[in-house]
Amino acid sequence: MNQYDVLIVGTGPAGLSAALYATRYKLNHLAIGEIKGGQVGFAFKICNIPTEKEILGVELAQKMFDNVKNAGANILLGKVEFIKKTEKGFLVQTNQEEFQAKTIILATGTKRKKLGLEKEKELQGKGVHYCATCDGFFYQDKVVGVVGGGNAALTAALYLSNLAKKVYLICLEKNKQELPAEIVWIDKVLENKKIEIFWDAQVKELIGDENLKAIVIESGNKDKELELNGLFIEIGGVANLPKMDFSLDKDSEGLIKVDKAQQTNVKGAFAAGDVSSGSNGFKQIITAMAEGAIAVNSALEYLKKFN
Ligand SMILES: Cc1cc2nc3c(=O)[nH]c(=O)nc-3n(C[C@H](O)[C@H](O)[C@H](O)COP(=O)(O)OP(=O)(O)OC[C@H]3O[C@@H](n4cnc5c(N)ncnc54)[C@H](O)[C@@H]3O)c2cc1C
Repeated sequence: MNQYDVLIVGTGPAGLSAALYATRYKLNHLAIGEIKGGQVGFAFKICNIPTEKEILGVELAQKMFDNVKNAGANILLGKVEFIKKTEKGFLVQTNQEEFQAKTIILATGTKRKKLGLEKEKELQGKGVHYCATCDGFFYQDKVVGVVGGGNAALTAALYLSNLAKKVYLICLEKNKQELPAEIVWIDKVLENKKIEIFWDAQVKELIGDENLKAIVIESGNKDKELELNGLFIEIGGVANLPKMDFSLDKDSEGLIKVDKAQQTNVKGAFAAGDVSSGSNGFKQIITAMAEGAIAVNSALEYLKKFN
């Protein structure tokens, strides 16, 4: 069976940074991930990485992946289905292979939160979407809505304003000051004539059978029906984890609790990036990369002690 000192699950910023550090430390490692570059590929423009003036998310995702692979990292594209705790460490299973690892780094990110509304599932892909850069193309000259008030929602609204004729932004926040987003994006949204913001608002109902036709929002205690063609839901994520036969401590948001070494409650199991409670909950590319690096450094220290 394939044996590794460090097995990294995830090939987003956290997993790729961990794979790069593992390569530089000459650790016997493998990174297994489903999506090259992770969620970065879903972002519109990335403007907060010091080495990049401005870069499309999809370009940065590919660039990170290629750079790390070219540095010599061992990367396998695939899905980890199950992780078992063993005497020697961990047994990591994909649907095709099994790998034994002394330590693991979980860098599996998050999956998109749903609104939890009736019809949301049946209208997914038929007007209801969770990725503007992936599906926005279908809404040229149409009317769309974006739900959320963070960076992802604001950048989605800006991206869609280049395609659609009208963009409604529906957010729970009551004003500009409350938006949990970068001021640069907030100002761009407020200046954009195509974007209309509904403050203190939430979506109550999705209307349409074959396709989404309209939504009902509750804004300032009043219901309002908005006719639109597409709705993009950008309200954050929930931890994305494979099944395991051991239990990891989680915080109140369901993220894996880690200490400052990215160590979880299970010895030899580390977590990094959006799936972890690290970096004071600041979920960004740069913090995910830093956590990936710290996790490998901690795995190395662990291996020195227990090998
Ligand atoms: C629309 C959008 C715009 C954003 N814009 C910015 C921005 O401008 N600047 C910024 O700093 N941040 C931005 N972010 C946030 C940033 O993308 C994340 O913080 C970052 O990608 C987290 O990295 P990660 O490696 O922890 O997780 P992710 O990027 O989510 O990567 C997780 C990886 O794990 C893999 N995976 C999951 N489960 C399994 C499994 N069972 N088996 C194998 N692989 C698995 C996935 O395929 C993926 O490769 C944005 C996010 C979104 C959604």
